[in-house]
Amino acid sequence: MNVSSQSAAVASAAPTDATPVAPSTFADLPLSPAMRAALRAASYVTPTPIQAATIPPALAGRDVIGAAQTGTGKTASFMIPIVERLRGAAEGGRPRGAAVVLAPTRELAEQIHGWASRLGTGLKTALVVGGVAYGPQIAALRGRPAIVIATPGRLVDHLERKTLALADVRIFVLDEADRMLDMGFRPQLDAIMRSLPAERQTLLFSATMPPDLGALARMHLRNPARVAVGPQAAPPPKAAQDVYLVANAEKTPLLLSMVATNPGTVLVFARTKHRTDRVMRSLCDAGFAAQRLHSNRTQQQRRDALEGFRRGRYRVLVATDIAARGIDVADIRHVINYDLPMTVEDYVHRVGRTARAEAHGRATSFASPEERGQLRAIERHIGRALPRGTALAPTALRPAAPTPHRAPRPVAPPALHRAPRQVAPSAPQRAPRPGDARAAGSPRETHRPFGLADLGLADARPERRPSARVRRARRP
Ligand code: AMP
Repeated sequence: MNVSSQSAAVASAAPTDATPVAPSTFADLPLSPAMRAALRAASYVTPTPIQAATIPPALAGRDVIGAAQTGTGKTASFMIPIVERLRGAAEGGRPRGAAVVLAPTRELAEQIHGWASRLGTGLKTALVVGGVAYGPQIAALRGRPAIVIATPGRLVDHLERKTLALADVRIFVLDEADRMLDMGFRPQLDAIMRSLPAERQTLLFSATMPPDLGALARMHLRNPARVAVGPQAAPPPKAAQDVYLVANAEKTPLLLSMVATNPGTVLVFARTKHRTDRVMRSLCDAGFAAQRLHSNRTQQQRRDALEGFRRGRYRVLVATDIAARGIDVADIRHVINYDLPMTVEDYVHRVGRTARAEAHGRATSFASPEERGQLRAIERHIGRALPRGTALAPTALRPAAPTPHRAPRPVAPPALHRAPRQVAPSAPQRAPRPGDARAAGSPRETHRPFGLADLGLADARPERRPSARVRRARRP
């Protein structure tokens, strides 16, 4: 992958304490021949801003707090120093000490594990995540891996079962630390911290720095180098964002029409597992190759869904916020927030699934009247009003894009033929900043309920169930 455009942003990487001049290529860094070969094999030439800012202090053994969004190249910024430091301290071909990387979700942990194997060739690694059998993990841990990548719950399980001890950990990484706290992993983090040796290097990465995380960092990191890349928690600049103001009942037909009219992969976020299932069914009924990802699925199903999406077996993946962070699927064209997220951070992470590295992408949100508060919070956060999506041509509602995987069935029409739900016009929206609002099109003009007229279906008659008498008469 080419991230040359990010290199321009190296200057904007803002190490908050003195760091050496940012390296402009990996050749400027004191790396081993094995690491240079691994980076070449991965086609990594230029460090991303977070890598340029993090790798030198981390290689020198310092603790680091990295404020970086998802998709910025965080993984290599801790994996390169881990591998180099462990290899550098090898005795008789065996690294002295180990590294533990903690990630909030199994998917992210698996992804990091993949990079540990690619960059750390020759070093033993173990993946320790929930939802899968203990046996193979215990066997891998007995083999004394140099790098353990884990989710917090399963790591604590192993500590309690005494199938893992952390006494020889030299490097400890907390990735997506804010997410781990959001997910309620504080007790597990505390238990893990208590089991780690005091003498260690700690690298902490987070997109945001909420107060509880700041407190945790003060308690557990020593004189950390602080590096911040780009504006904190902003959506990727190359993601075009827009919003459709819709009634809840209009979300599915709008989604089907968008998937039909826009080629490429689509990641759809829904609020609950139940809604995720329902949206996926609607997509499948309409003939699209869709799959779902949420925490009620087994680990194998989650893996298959993600792998199938990556490889193009599924064009659409419908997910809860489990997929909002860290998941690296190249070339997701369109992120659709079927439901708006509850926090602006989740919005940023969802949008961050598209327009990764060099690519362009689009992020569309559907906001029902009940979600206008969330929309206002998002617009305040990004500092501008999102452009309002407007009318779709009636033809756009037909599924024009049969997937190569399945013969398309016609788009299920029921919601469109139902009488439009009456939506009280929402209060005129206050733009986050007056100048921005005007530039983006005044919300006063455009912020209105999205109705069937917008879909070109104002004339559609509600389909009425024939009366019992008529049904009897029609019976053959
Ligand atoms: P990450 O934030 O670690 O998930 O990385 C985001 C994406 O950028 C992944 O597809 C990485 O393979 C890619 N990437 C990370 N660092 C570099 C680099 N220095 N050069 C090119 N691609 C990179």
